[in-house]
Amino acid sequence: MNITDSQIIEKVRNGLDTVDEQARECGITMGCGGCYSLVKKIIKEEKNKRMSKTVRVFKLVSEHIDSPDGTDSYEMPKGWRAITMDELAHTHFNNITPEFIEHRQFNWDNNTPPYGKKRIIAQLYWYPDKTGVAFHKEWVYNPTKREGQWELFYFAFGCKHQFKELSPEESRVRGIAHYGNCWHVHECQLCKYTNSYDSSD
Ligand SMILES: [Zn+2]
Repeated sequence: MNITDSQIIEKVRNGLDTVDEQARECGITMGCGGCYSLVKKIIKEEKNKRMSKTVRVFKLVSEHIDSPDGTDSYEMPKGWRAITMDELAHTHFNNITPEFIEHRQFNWDNNTPPYGKKRIIAQLYWYPDKTGVAFHKEWVYNPTKREGQWELFYFAFGCKHQFKELSPEESRVRGIAHYGNCWHVHECQLCKYTNSYDSSD
Protein backbone atom coordinates (compact mmCIF):
# COMPACT_ATOMS: atom_id res chain seq x y z
CA MET A 1 0.00 0.00 0.00
CA ASN A 2 1.38 3.41 -1.00
CA ILE A 3 1.09 6.28 1.41
CA THR A 4 2.90 9.61 1.35
CA ASP A 5 4.61 11.57 4.15
CA SER A 6 1.92 14.23 4.02
CA GLN A 7 -0.84 11.62 4.39
CA ILE A 8 0.88 10.29 7.53
CA ILE A 9 1.22 13.84 8.93
CA GLU A 10 -2.44 14.51 8.13
CA LYS A 11 -3.42 11.40 10.11
CA VAL A 12 -1.29 12.51 13.09
CA ARG A 13 -3.16 15.84 13.04
CA ASN A 14 -6.42 13.89 13.07
CA GLY A 15 -5.36 12.11 16.25
CA LEU A 16 -3.76 8.91 14.92
CA ASP A 17 -0.42 9.62 16.53
CA THR A 18 1.15 6.20 17.00
CA VAL A 19 2.34 3.72 14.39
CA ASP A 20 -0.10 1.21 15.92
CA GLU A 21 -3.10 3.43 15.40
CA GLN A 22 -2.10 4.28 11.84
CA ALA A 23 -1.51 0.62 11.08
CA ARG A 24 -4.93 -0.35 12.44
CA GLU A 25 -6.65 2.45 10.54
CA CYS A 26 -5.08 2.12 7.11
CA GLY A 27 -2.79 -0.88 7.02
CA ILE A 28 0.53 0.98 6.78
CA THR A 29 3.62 -1.04 7.77
CA MET A 30 1.50 -4.18 7.87
CA GLY A 31 2.92 -5.66 4.68
CA CYS A 32 6.66 -6.19 4.81
CA GLY A 33 7.21 -4.15 8.00
CA GLY A 34 10.10 -2.34 6.29
CA CYS A 35 8.60 1.13 6.47
CA TYR A 36 7.85 0.83 10.19
CA SER A 37 10.82 2.92 11.38
CA LEU A 38 10.25 5.52 8.67
CA VAL A 39 6.61 6.00 9.69
CA LYS A 40 7.70 6.15 13.34
CA LYS A 41 10.20 8.93 12.50
CA ILE A 42 7.64 11.02 10.57
CA ILE A 43 5.11 10.69 13.41
CA LYS A 44 7.71 11.65 16.01
CA GLU A 45 8.76 14.80 14.11
CA GLU A 46 5.14 15.89 13.70
CA LYS A 47 4.37 15.28 17.39
CA ASN A 48 7.41 17.34 18.41
CA LYS A 49 6.17 20.22 16.25
CA ARG A 50 2.76 20.34 17.90
CA MET A 51 4.00 19.77 21.49
CA SER A 52 3.57 23.39 22.63
CA LYS A 53 -0.04 23.32 21.38
CA THR A 54 -0.76 20.08 23.27
CA VAL A 55 0.41 21.49 26.59
CA ARG A 56 -1.90 24.47 26.21
CA VAL A 57 -4.90 22.25 25.49
CA PHE A 58 -4.31 20.09 28.55
CA LYS A 59 -4.04 23.18 30.73
CA LEU A 60 -7.49 24.25 29.59
CA VAL A 61 -8.88 20.75 30.06
CA SER A 62 -7.55 20.59 33.61
CA GLU A 63 -9.62 23.60 34.61
CA HIS A 64 -13.09 22.28 33.95
CA ILE A 65 -13.45 19.09 31.99
CA ASP A 66 -13.49 15.39 33.02
CA SER A 67 -10.24 13.85 34.15
CA PRO A 68 -8.95 10.66 32.46
CA ASP A 69 -10.57 8.34 35.05
CA GLY A 70 -13.92 10.15 34.93
CA THR A 71 -13.77 11.51 38.50
CA ASP A 72 -14.70 15.11 39.18
CA SER A 73 -12.34 17.84 40.26
CA TYR A 74 -13.61 17.64 43.89
CA GLU A 75 -13.43 13.80 44.12
CA MET A 76 -10.64 11.45 45.08
CA PRO A 77 -9.03 9.92 41.96
CA LYS A 78 -9.58 6.16 41.60
CA GLY A 79 -6.96 4.00 43.33
CA TRP A 80 -5.64 6.89 45.46
CA ARG A 81 -2.94 5.72 47.89
CA ALA A 82 -0.07 7.16 49.92
CA ILE A 83 3.39 6.07 48.77
CA THR A 84 6.90 6.47 50.13
CA MET A 85 9.67 8.37 48.38
CA ASP A 86 11.18 5.02 47.39
CA GLU A 87 7.89 3.90 45.81
CA LEU A 88 7.71 7.24 44.01
CA ALA A 89 11.11 6.50 42.47
CA HIS A 90 9.62 3.31 40.97
CA THR A 91 6.68 5.07 39.28
CA HIS A 92 6.65 6.76 35.85
CA PHE A 93 7.75 9.95 37.60
CA ASN A 94 10.82 11.37 35.85
CA ASN A 95 10.59 8.77 33.05
CA ILE A 96 7.46 9.78 31.17
CA THR A 97 6.09 13.22 30.35
CA PRO A 98 2.71 13.67 32.02
CA GLU A 99 -0.15 13.89 29.59
CA PHE A 100 -2.19 16.07 31.86
CA ILE A 101 -1.45 18.14 34.99
CA GLU A 102 -4.29 18.95 37.30
CA HIS A 103 -4.71 20.91 40.51
CA ARG A 104 -7.31 19.25 42.73
CA GLN A 105 -8.75 19.57 46.25
CA PHE A 106 -10.74 16.83 47.99
CA ASN A 107 -11.28 15.08 51.32
CA TRP A 108 -9.39 11.88 51.90
CA ASP A 109 -10.72 9.60 54.58
CA ASN A 110 -7.98 7.21 55.56
CA ASN A 111 -7.57 4.95 58.60
CA THR A 112 -3.84 4.49 58.30
CA PRO A 113 -1.69 6.68 60.55
CA PRO A 114 -0.10 9.18 60.12
CA TYR A 115 -2.55 10.28 57.44
CA GLY A 116 -6.04 10.05 58.98
CA LYS A 117 -8.69 12.30 57.52
CA LYS A 118 -7.13 14.96 55.37
CA ARG A 119 -8.03 17.79 53.11
CA ILE A 120 -5.84 17.08 50.14
CA ILE A 121 -4.67 19.96 48.01
CA ALA A 122 -2.60 18.31 45.36
CA GLN A 123 -0.94 18.61 42.02
CA LEU A 124 -1.83 15.49 39.99
CA TYR A 125 0.41 14.23 37.18
CA TRP A 126 -1.51 11.94 34.83
CA TYR A 127 0.35 9.56 32.54
CA PRO A 128 -0.98 8.11 29.28
CA ASP A 129 -1.87 4.79 30.99
CA LYS A 130 -4.35 6.62 33.29
CA THR A 131 -2.15 6.19 36.36
CA GLY A 132 -0.41 9.05 38.06
CA VAL A 133 1.48 10.52 40.98
CA ALA A 134 0.57 13.45 43.15
CA PHE A 135 2.15 15.76 45.70
CA HIS A 136 0.48 17.39 48.64
CA LYS A 137 2.23 19.78 51.04
CA GLU A 138 1.20 20.51 54.58
CA TRP A 139 2.39 22.80 57.36
CA VAL A 140 3.23 20.45 60.23
CA TYR A 141 3.74 21.91 63.71
CA ASN A 142 6.17 20.20 66.04
CA PRO A 143 5.11 21.02 69.66
CA THR A 144 8.42 19.87 71.15
CA LYS A 145 10.53 22.09 68.95
CA ARG A 146 7.79 24.73 68.99
CA GLU A 147 8.20 25.24 65.33
CA GLY A 148 6.59 24.14 62.13
CA GLN A 149 7.77 23.19 58.71
CA TRP A 150 6.39 22.28 55.29
CA GLU A 151 6.19 18.54 54.71
CA LEU A 152 5.67 16.94 51.34
CA PHE A 153 3.43 13.85 50.97
CA TYR A 154 3.60 11.50 47.98
CA PHE A 155 0.67 9.68 46.40
CA ALA A 156 -0.09 7.40 43.49
CA PHE A 157 -3.43 6.74 41.83
CA GLY A 158 -4.97 4.61 39.11
CA CYS A 159 -4.54 0.92 38.43
CA LYS A 160 -1.64 -1.06 39.92
CA HIS A 161 -1.01 -2.73 36.57
CA GLN A 162 -0.30 -6.44 36.37
CA PHE A 163 1.07 -6.92 32.88
CA LYS A 164 1.09 -10.13 30.88
CA GLU A 165 2.62 -10.42 27.43
CA LEU A 166 0.20 -11.18 24.58
CA SER A 167 1.07 -13.53 21.74
CA PRO A 168 0.70 -12.28 18.13
CA GLU A 169 -2.55 -14.27 17.95
CA GLU A 170 -3.96 -12.79 21.18
CA SER A 171 -2.99 -9.31 19.91
CA ARG A 172 -4.75 -9.92 16.60
CA VAL A 173 -7.98 -10.98 18.35
CA ARG A 174 -7.91 -7.68 20.28
CA GLY A 175 -7.25 -5.63 17.14
CA ILE A 176 -3.70 -4.70 18.22
CA ALA A 177 -0.98 -4.67 15.58
CA HIS A 178 1.89 -7.09 16.18
CA TYR A 179 5.12 -6.78 14.16
CA GLY A 180 6.89 -10.03 14.97
CA ASN A 181 9.70 -11.34 17.14
CA CYS A 182 11.12 -8.06 18.47
CA TRP A 183 7.66 -6.68 19.07
CA HIS A 184 6.07 -6.95 22.51
CA VAL A 185 2.49 -6.27 23.48
CA HIS A 186 1.60 -6.25 27.18
CA GLU A 187 -1.88 -6.16 28.60
CA CYS A 188 -2.81 -5.30 32.19
CA GLN A 189 -4.85 -8.14 33.67
CA LEU A 190 -6.84 -5.66 35.79
CA CYS A 191 -7.70 -2.63 33.63
CA LYS A 192 -6.93 -4.09 30.16
CA TYR A 193 -4.59 -1.19 29.30
CA THR A 194 -2.13 -2.33 26.64
CA ASN A 195 1.24 -1.05 25.58
CA SER A 196 3.48 -2.10 22.74
CA TYR A 197 7.17 -1.69 22.17
CA ASP A 198 9.96 -2.72 19.87
CA SER A 199 12.87 -4.35 21.73
CA SER A 200 15.17 -4.05 18.69
CA ASP A 201 15.48 -0.23 19.04
ZN1 LIG B 1 -3.99 -1.80 34.92
